[in-house]
Amino acid sequence: MSSGVITASYIGASALFILALAGLSHQETARRGNFYGMLGMGIALMVTIFGVVTDNHEFLIAGVVVGGYIGWVLAKRVEMTHMPELVAMLHSMVGLAAVFVGYANALDHSATMIGIEKTIHDVETYIGILIGAITLSGSIAAYLKLSAKISGRPLQLPGRHLFNLGLLIAAIWLAFLYVEQSAAGGGLTILILMTIIALMFGVHMVIAIGGADMPVVVSMLNSYSGWAAAAMGFMLGNDLLIVVGALVGSSGAILSYIMCKAMNRKFVNVILGGLGSKSTSAGPAGATGDVGDVSQIQPEEAAHLLESAKEVMIIPGYGMAVAQAQHIVYEITKKLRDKGVNVRFGIHPVAGRMPGHMNVLLAEAKVPYDIVYEMDEVNPDFPNVDVSVVIGANDIVNPAAQDVADSPIAGMPVLEPWKGKTTIVLKRGMSAGYAGVDNPLFYKENTRMLFGDAKDSVDEVLKFLSK
Ligand code: NDP
Repeated sequence: MSSGVITASYIGASALFILALAGLSHQETARRGNFYGMLGMGIALMVTIFGVVTDNHEFLIAGVVVGGYIGWVLAKRVEMTHMPELVAMLHSMVGLAAVFVGYANALDHSATMIGIEKTIHDVETYIGILIGAITLSGSIAAYLKLSAKISGRPLQLPGRHLFNLGLLIAAIWLAFLYVEQSAAGGGLTILILMTIIALMFGVHMVIAIGGADMPVVVSMLNSYSGWAAAAMGFMLGNDLLIVVGALVGSSGAILSYIMCKAMNRKFVNVILGGLGSKSTSAGPAGATGDVGDVSQIQPEEAAHLLESAKEVMIIPGYGMAVAQAQHIVYEITKKLRDKGVNVRFGIHPVAGRMPGHMNVLLAEAKVPYDIVYEMDEVNPDFPNVDVSVVIGANDIVNPAAQDVADSPIAGMPVLEPWKGKTTIVLKRGMSAGYAGVDNPLFYKENTRMLFGDAKDSVDEVLKFLSK
């Protein structure tokens, strides 16, 4: 393959990745965006394997087939509620790849670089392994947290900032040592030491963040995996990898910033591993309140309330994803709209367990986009809302974020259904949400609890609406 064809294909693939990102920023164009991304990656792989690589093609093809098959099976099997764990695991693979590429580079003595060129190459290798190892261990820690295999609470060790500073100073000092020793043909021990430090930092950074701040961890690791890929691009001298890595790295960083803004957290604080975040005063995840203290409602009465309303706001959360209730929710929406009720959906930016989780569910159920609104758009309207229906949501509608100064979610913007006439909350019991904080909304005078699995409850409500 001529170098002109390779360059043209790489530029084409880069353009497709940019189109993919643009497509993914709107529900209507997300499918097309995904297609562009797949096409871009297909071109990138084929051109790299058959144009750039000169040997061992059979291993690479085998790798593509086996890796592609595993990816296909995983994507088919994974449930929507387990996507964040899968994404965290995939990020760890990028980190691992960067570490492997870095070591392969360091051990490859066939290169004949000298002087400044060699120094730059050594620094690239060092940084690539550093970012890769942080991404690898941080993503594994995030996976364990998100899948509840370890506690989701922030674990903040005493003197953690000094510890982090110590690791940073050690990493910089080792970089100088590595460049010096590598010039003399050594440096492997230094690289291993740095890798251990980076692995420790990755775990320490992620375990210090927890509860309601976890969405930021997911997007932040997304960004790190991009920078790890860009670092690999520098190590391998592959322009396309640099471009793709930079795209992923910067879009992940922008998403982290958006998530931080949505949660009213400082970006730097989250990156530094919980600096300045509240201590672990959260109640235990799954803390339960007393069912006796709340007013309950039955499906028939809920259906009647909805039918007689003019303005209805539906607020979906993680529980709707668990129950897979979105299709029936849309059936109810259609029925109410036919009866002249104005039904809207209010979406919190961190509802569910991944950015855009609720939008994906509603798109799957074919809910029209023009009745789906963001939190900031609907919050001022709640005083005019007759009935808000909170479906499997908890933290995102918790007034403690505004009223309780020392709450672990204090300052996080929330949807405000309690300002409307009546709120119906659909959940199975009185368990707390992800942040482990009790929710005063459930005890408010104008709140009615409809207990049960969200799908069963909306099924029942729909039956009574049909009558
Ligand atoms: P929450 O986790 O706060 O609450 C979900 C509620 O759904 C629970 O209280 C649970 O109560 C209820 N529930 C669970 N299963 C069912 C079911 N089958 N039927 C009915 N109810 C059910 O979810 P929110 O969406 O309100 O908030 C998201 C939280 O997750 C935030 O704290 C956010 O920071 C965090 N997070 C978000 C991420 C993201 O990227 N969006 C990533 C990681 C964390 P019960 O058991 O009583 O039914």
